[in-house]
Amino acid sequence: MALKYNPQEIEKKWQERWAAEHIYEVTEDSSGTKFYALTMFPYTSGDLHIGHWYAMAPSDVYARFKRMQGYNVLHPMGFDAFGLPAENAAINRGVHPYDWTMKNVEHMRHQLKSIGAIYDWNREVVSCLLEYYKWTQWFFLRFYHAGLAYRAKAPVNWCPRCQTVLANEQVVGEGFCERCGSQVTKRDLEQWFFRITKYAEELLDFSHIDWPERIKVMQRNWIGKSEGAEISFGLEHEGVEQKEIRVFTTRPDTIFGVTFFLLAPEHPLVPQLTAPERRDEVEEYVAWCRRQAEYERTAMGREKTGVFLGSYVINRLNGEKVPVWITDYALLTYGTGAVMGVPAHDERDLEFARKFNLPVRTVIAPPGWSGEEPTGAYADSGTMVNSGEFSGLSSEQGYDAICNLLERRGWGKRTVTYRLRDWLISRQRYWGAPIPMVYCNKCGIVPVPEEDLPVLLPPDAEFKPTGESPLKYCQTFVNTICPKCSGPARREVDTMDTFMCSNWYFLRYTSPKTDDAPFEAEKLRYWLPVDLYTGGAEHAVMHLLYARFFIKAIRDIGLVDFDEPFRRLFNQGTISYRGDKMSKSKGNVIAPDEYVAELGADAVRGYLMFIGPWELGGEWSDSGIVGVSRWLNRVWSLVETGYTSQAAELKAEKELLHVTHKTIKRVTEDLEKFRFNTMLAGLMEFTNYLSRMQELGSISASLWQEAITCLLLLLAPTAPHLAEELWARTGHSYSIHNQSWPKWDEELIKEEEITLVIQINGKLRDRLLVPVSITETEAKELVLERERVKAYTHDKKIDKIIYVPGRVVNVVVK
Ligand SMILES: [Zn+2]
Ligand SMILES: [Zn+2]
Repeated sequence: MALKYNPQEIEKKWQERWAAEHIYEVTEDSSGTKFYALTMFPYTSGDLHIGHWYAMAPSDVYARFKRMQGYNVLHPMGFDAFGLPAENAAINRGVHPYDWTMKNVEHMRHQLKSIGAIYDWNREVVSCLLEYYKWTQWFFLRFYHAGLAYRAKAPVNWCPRCQTVLANEQVVGEGFCERCGSQVTKRDLEQWFFRITKYAEELLDFSHIDWPERIKVMQRNWIGKSEGAEISFGLEHEGVEQKEIRVFTTRPDTIFGVTFFLLAPEHPLVPQLTAPERRDEVEEYVAWCRRQAEYERTAMGREKTGVFLGSYVINRLNGEKVPVWITDYALLTYGTGAVMGVPAHDERDLEFARKFNLPVRTVIAPPGWSGEEPTGAYADSGTMVNSGEFSGLSSEQGYDAICNLLERRGWGKRTVTYRLRDWLISRQRYWGAPIPMVYCNKCGIVPVPEEDLPVLLPPDAEFKPTGESPLKYCQTFVNTICPKCSGPARREVDTMDTFMCSNWYFLRYTSPKTDDAPFEAEKLRYWLPVDLYTGGAEHAVMHLLYARFFIKAIRDIGLVDFDEPFRRLFNQGTISYRGDKMSKSKGNVIAPDEYVAELGADAVRGYLMFIGPWELGGEWSDSGIVGVSRWLNRVWSLVETGYTSQAAELKAEKELLHVTHKTIKRVTEDLEKFRFNTMLAGLMEFTNYLSRMQELGSISASLWQEAITCLLLLLAPTAPHLAEELWARTGHSYSIHNQSWPKWDEELIKEEEITLVIQINGKLRDRLLVPVSITETEAKELVLERERVKAYTHDKKIDKIIYVPGRVVNVVVK
């Protein structure tokens, strides 16, 4: 009597045995080729929801598959434990962020174990622990010594709710906080920055990595390279020392169309260039602008505003005096904070000119232009007109000719600008790695010596956010001794952006216990770069950009010898429920634990594979998971029921081999391409086929055993517990997960072939060898592609095509 499938019992049993026997521990000295399969480590938010499972289960299936293929697979797990989400949650509950975080880590680790993944828990990394953040600080110091970290005063994004500054990358949509959704405002603060802009050009090079196109596009747009020219406008203003203002333009060929000059309201020259009689109006306007969010100021279609300063700059190319205005759509944070106004060829400039009755002068003629007033701004290329000696040139020729002139006369030069700004890493919050710097009245900014690390995050500090760094009020932390002169000094009280912690966790997995370096160089050289990185696309211009920068920076510091952290990137889709993306606020979150308890982890894993293409995700349905669970039960019965051979038939045996090998091929190829849903459909079809064979009994018992063995091996990555159990119950020795992935035999997959006779209007014209399984549509398509058939049909109309299955295709033409 066959036993019933009991996932609760077998899953617990095998998880314990795998752990006890350290089956998934990996070392560097294996003979197989290394494969580093990395999944983004989760925030310690408290509970693993189905979205985590959707990130982790399919990546585990893939890692298991590579392992069975003979690769030496590193597939580690850890926790992104510092940062706002954990701190905010702790504050809401009135507990210390450390206690809250570590409690979550424990709970999540327990949940993660229930997935049945091949994580080597000896390699776990928790970014808020001393032994980890000591090295986060160490990297900061290395950046500082290499000139890649600097302190500067700048207008920064401020989230009034989170009470901290945000990096530009953390301001999303139309100026909202990425964490809490509040409207972000501006503040002037002294902050620490990383010089990511130094790598702008190299970050645009994706030629050595296999990443999704949309992530590359997002990074490219974020970096925002534009080529153009820097042009100097003359300044002859009494009492102003500066004799020029430079602007950047992508269209130097439009220089003769400049009819006004714009400065950002915050531009330092504004007070000096303001005529006395215009001062009140200008000051009022500047104050008004500072209250506006950046996205509002630059929004398309917004009504243009501005004030004339009462002063002029000189357009050196034609000697004209150009009036200087300030406007909110000129930003100090972009380019030079100055813009040349060319209303005929720029939509926003045209709106501005119309609003304030400024002249509009066409200097680039559209094709067929005969001197009429333009209705809109013409921003394309054309022929230069009203441009002195340059008139008659094409835009492209003019671009070069004007750049050459500028460079010859010293009035400017060809240049490239980027939208990317340096990465602001200071945070006015408690729950992060303290920035290891000291301020001394005598010596200025002094880095903490490496041997004095870590700078301990004081556990007893008051951590509630006040708008200032909480550490500022912790006297035992702030007051220190200057490492240089031993005089009294103060510590930096800001902590680091947690994206600094996630910049290097995948390096730490290679040697997590090392305590005299962030990683062991030899081990790192063996495992890195990461071969496959999987996770959410929401990190496109944050973590995924920062980590690329980080690796390039530490390469230049001499710590690693590769250029890119992640060779291949794959972004999984999302699981929705009741038509909506799952979220706690909508109350439609699926808790995987209940399903694991009821149907088993293998059913949850299997269902997540089946729900849709991994990159798209799908809609969770209870009947869907029940269907997958039923299939696993069928696999169980199929194997447990046993097999009795009635009378072996050669034809049936040949067919079984054919189907088995076709299934191996399909499952292997689907897994390689992350097509988990069709992979599973293939396994289900194979199960159904074997059930029919079981009833017929028309194959030998040994061949049946071979087919079952193959089914279990193919099932092992998806349903590791069930496959292990049935492996043992069919008399194999432990463990299925140490077996080799089955290989298919092309000979056995070959379809039997037949000859189709091709007729045109009933006359034999050609013959064609095709697989026996060919469909009518396929046969007709193949026939029409034949050159000999085309010779008869190309000048005629095909009336109909008659298909006699397996024998004749008759094309009737008129
Ligand atoms: Zn916020
Ligand atoms: Zn000092």
